[in-house]
Parts: sequence; structure tokens; C-alpha cells
Amino acid sequence: MPHIIVIGAGAVGVCCAYYLRKKGFHVTVVDRGRIGAACSAGNAGLIVPSHVIPLAAPGVVSQGLKWLFRRDSPFYIRPRLDPALWSWVWRFTRHCNNSAVAKSTPVLHDLLQRSAHLFDELFQAHEQAFYYRKKGLLMVYRQDKYRRALQQDADTAAALGIAVRHLSQQELVQLEPHAPARSAGAFYYPNDAHLDPTQFIQALVDRLSDQGVTFLENTEVTGLEQENGQVTGIAAASGPLKGDMVLIASGSWSPLLAGPKVLPLPVEAGKGYSITLDQPKITPTFPMILSEEKATITPLGDRIRFAGTLELSGLDHRVNRARFESVVAVAPQYQPDFQVDRLDESRIWHGFRPCTPDGLPIIGRSKRHPNLLVATGHAMLGITLAPITGSLIANLAAETGGEQAITLNALSPFRFSH
Ligand SMILES: Cc1cc2nc3c(=O)[nH]c(=O)nc-3n(C[C@H](O)[C@H](O)[C@H](O)COP(=O)(O)OP(=O)(O)OC[C@H]3O[C@@H](n4cnc5c(N)ncnc54)[C@H](O)[C@@H]3O)c2cc1C
Repeated sequence: MPHIIVIGAGAVGVCCAYYLRKKGFHVTVVDRGRIGAACSAGNAGLIVPSHVIPLAAPGVVSQGLKWLFRRDSPFYIRPRLDPALWSWVWRFTRHCNNSAVAKSTPVLHDLLQRSAHLFDELFQAHEQAFYYRKKGLLMVYRQDKYRRALQQDADTAAALGIAVRHLSQQELVQLEPHAPARSAGAFYYPNDAHLDPTQFIQALVDRLSDQGVTFLENTEVTGLEQENGQVTGIAAASGPLKGDMVLIASGSWSPLLAGPKVLPLPVEAGKGYSITLDQPKITPTFPMILSEEKATITPLGDRIRFAGTLELSGLDHRVNRARFESVVAVAPQYQPDFQVDRLDESRIWHGFRPCTPDGLPIIGRSKRHPNLLVATGHAMLGITLAPITGSLIANLAAETGGEQAITLNALSPFRFSH
């Protein structure tokens, strides 16, 4: 069977390796850091088939413009002279309309449903080796303005057959007594789930290692090796490696690996923050998204994680404390001795979501080098969509799966050029 090199050992790269191996490919996964240690580590761990509306949606631009340059807002663009950023923003605003959303929502819905189903299968197949709970998701609000926006999303979801129920303040507190104080109600999506993303990736890596997949950590890929119009492998800090196919699954760093002629990848890094507290005094049963703050609270066994914000500031590792503090404003309710102003910065996790202008991932192959594949651009849904991405990539590599042509057109790396 052909040898495929996967560049990137995040949730997407590891899930691709999983389904490629299942099809019989000989697989090597290369990462410049540790496996699963980038954006796939400290995220909120929500598996959200309910999230059918892409990031680029009507209202985002008007709301975003109000938030745009406010340092503590849920969505922030750090002003800078970067043509790629402003070209991305221009394309993004062009997708924030009803007709673009009407096109992308069914594609996203289909991917989300299939991925949620694959998660159930993976959880069973791995003897429940990772923390995964199918408790649903609470979208909590305080203000009526946010209730109305959530109602609209709920109507769209319900029209697609997604189960959703509105809870009054009293019903919310009955279901989740540890919902944040002053919550006025919530929309409950019972079929969503949550997991520990690090345990999930490790479970797959353990299984893959047993099956002969090689993982090369601390190995930076510096370029693609080419001969006679074919990609023949990768150039890495430790030396070249030959492969019959190469898959770029390098998250927000993917555009750096292939030039725009080989693979046009309009991906911008959307930085987000989280903090995980051990043994909080109070642990909620249900994961929650706080609508006003766009922040999440995820119970992870005997830990609790607070995550959120989206900051287009490039691949910049500096911590913006004002933005982080807005994410953890509710943390003292769960751990009364938690003091954000005393917090050591090394405990603040950040990750770069790979964001595309239309809110759909990029899954496809290079026209110039058909043996070069790509899977990136999953933005806020990279954990949720990792299994279906792996499955699509495996079919693409094996050149099977007729029905996929429609889906793969919508996800093509070349869709932005016309
Ligand atoms: C605060 C926050 C909360 C989130 N919450 C959720 C959630 O609840 N649910 C959800 O579905 N998604 C969520 N996400 C999004 C999700 O985390 C990402 O979409 C996902 O992790 C992207 O996975 P990836 O494998 O594409 O990228 P990454 O995990 O970033 O992996 C890319 C890998 O490529 C490697 N790499 C890069 N360049 C090279 C190179 N040159 N050579 C070798 N290796 C290289 C990197 O080291 C890295 O390990 C959240 C994100 C954030 C920031």
C-alpha cells in the first residue's frame, strides 16, 4: 500500500492517520512539536453537531464592527499592515450574507452529523479509552437580545431536524443547578457531547502506534520535495523523508507549507484562550456556552475548563490579559479562591484556530500535484469535524466514494479563486 506522510499531529492529522490506516495505507505522522499539543489540546472539547451556522454569518459583520477593536470583546482584530489578513477579512465579509449561509449550512450540517456518528463509533471501538460524555449543550443567555439571536439559531437547527428545547430560568436551574448566576434561560441541544481532547488524541495515537503508524515528534517540516511534477516527500530538519503522498494537516500553519499556486490556503489564525482548574469546588454536569461572553464552561471529570474569544492577531503567542480575563470572569463561581489577577501567565493556554473566510474547512488535493492533499481550516469546529475529515481524506487518497464529489467541491481549496 502507498506510504502517506501526514504533516501535523493535531486532532485533524491524527484522525486522518486513523482512517488512512484503516484503509490500509502505510502512514507516518510528523510534527514539529509534541503530538496534539497545539490548538487541539486546550480547546473546549465540545462536539457540536448543533453548530450548523458557519462563522461567516449575517450579523457577524455589524456585531463584529462594534467589537472589532475593543480589546476585551469576544471577537477582535489586531490592526496591522498585512495584505493576507485584509484580503481574508474582505472575503469573510463577502460570505456574511443569507445566500452564502444558505449554501454552506447544509454542507456543514451533513459533515457535523456524520462526524458525531463517527465519534460514537470511535468511543465504542476504543473501549471507552477517553473521557466522552453525551450530555448535550446549554446555550445560556442573560439578556433578551441574546435570547432572540439564540432563538433564530434554534429555529434554523430545528428546521434541519436537530433536537433543541428552550429552558426558562427555572427549568435551567432544575437541569443544571450550577449554571452561572443571573442566567435568564438557555437553549438545550441534547445530542451534543463533550470530551477531553488530549485523551481522545492519545487514545487514537496508542491504537495507531500498535498498528505500525510512525509518529515523528519535534521534527519540523521545512518544505515539500518534488521531482517531475510530483511531490516525492518532505524536507525536514532531521533530513528528507520519501512518501507516495503528502497530507498537509498543519492547522493555522498550513499556508506556510505550500505556495498559493500549489495550494491556495486563505487561512487566518483565530487565537483563543483557556484555563483548566483541577478539582473545583463545584462542577456542572452540562457544558455551557455563555452567549454574552462567547465563553464556554466544560466539565472534564474532576476538572473544569473555561475557554473562548477569537482574536485575529496572526501567529502571535503573546497573551492579551484583557481578553483572557473576559473568558474566565465566571470562574470564581466554581472555584471561590480563583483570582485571575494573581494568575501566573504560564497557566493560560492559547491556541490558533485555523479560520477560512466562509467558515467551512478546506479538504482536497492540489491540482498541480494530485498526490498532495490538504485538511485544514476547521476554525471553531476542528475537534467536532476531525473524524469526518479523516474519513473524507482516506476516501480521497484511495480515490473512492462517488457521493463525495458534491461535498468535496464545497470544501475544495480552489473554491475561493472564482
Ligand atoms: C479556545 C478554543 C476553544 C475551542 N473549542 C472547540 C470546541 O469546543 N469544539 C471544537 O470542535 N473545536 C474547538 N476549537 C477549535 C479546535 O481546537 C481546532 O479547530 C482544532 O484543534 C484544529 O486542529 P488541527 O489539527 O487542524 O490543528 P492543530 O491542533 O493546531 O495541529 C496542527 C499541528 O501541525 C503542526 N505543524 C505546524 N507546522 C508544522 C511544520 N512545519 N512541521 C511539522 N509540524 C507542523 C503543529 O505543531 C501542530 O501540532 C477551539 C479552539 C480554541 C482556540
